[in-house]
Amino acid sequence: MYKEQLIENLRNQGFPLFIIEAFASVPRELFIPKNLEQYAYEDSPLPIGEKQTISQPYTMAFMLSLLGVEKIRKNKIKILEIGSGSGYVLALLSKLCPQAKIFGVEIIRTLSENSKQILSNYKNIKIINKSGILGLPDSAPYDRILVSASAHNISIIDKITNQLKDKGILVSPVGNSIIQLKKHNNKLEKKEFPGFAFVPLVE
Ligand code: SAH
Repeated sequence: MYKEQLIENLRNQGFPLFIIEAFASVPRELFIPKNLEQYAYEDSPLPIGEKQTISQPYTMAFMLSLLGVEKIRKNKIKILEIGSGSGYVLALLSKLCPQAKIFGVEIIRTLSENSKQILSNYKNIKIINKSGILGLPDSAPYDRILVSASAHNISIIDKITNQLKDKGILVSPVGNSIIQLKKHNNKLEKKEFPGFAFVPLVE
């Protein structure tokens, strides 16, 4: 499949223009192994080495929509991605929110090192090689938190909601669902979207 076709599919699936434009401006082939380049624009997950995968574009577009950045994306916000893997989603976030400070936490060193190289031109992205199971307290609080690997239980996610600002949003897979948590006056409003598959969050 060609890039234009993937973009057209995302359009037909009804994603907002600013999200589609981010997909159009980031070359996915940079984030996958060379021998898989021909599949870069398939709407499917792809291996990135170390038994990990880059998510399906549809799933990413869905999670990025749930992150709800549209109205604040030109502001100086702080975003955390836990499980930044190849760095592809960090690049998308950087296009979506050019003024943001974006932190990626990745537990596998080779992936974090590779992604640092690929993203060396993205000045608003910082990648840290460690477990994000407890979030990244040092740079908290965040306006948005995106978890890219699946927690087996919501209690794991509950432990990092204190790193979310008021009016902040966290999006995370829990089991086979995507969970969206919105914080308001220290209360969390939760929505669940079932029917997805992710690599597990290492606990
Ligand atoms: N967003 C990534 C998706 C990578 S898959 C991309 O665009 O490529 C999920 C990633 O989460 C894997 O790279 C895995 O190593 C990482 N991961 C799993 N458990 C983790 C943990 N506890 N802390 C940090 N990263 C973790």
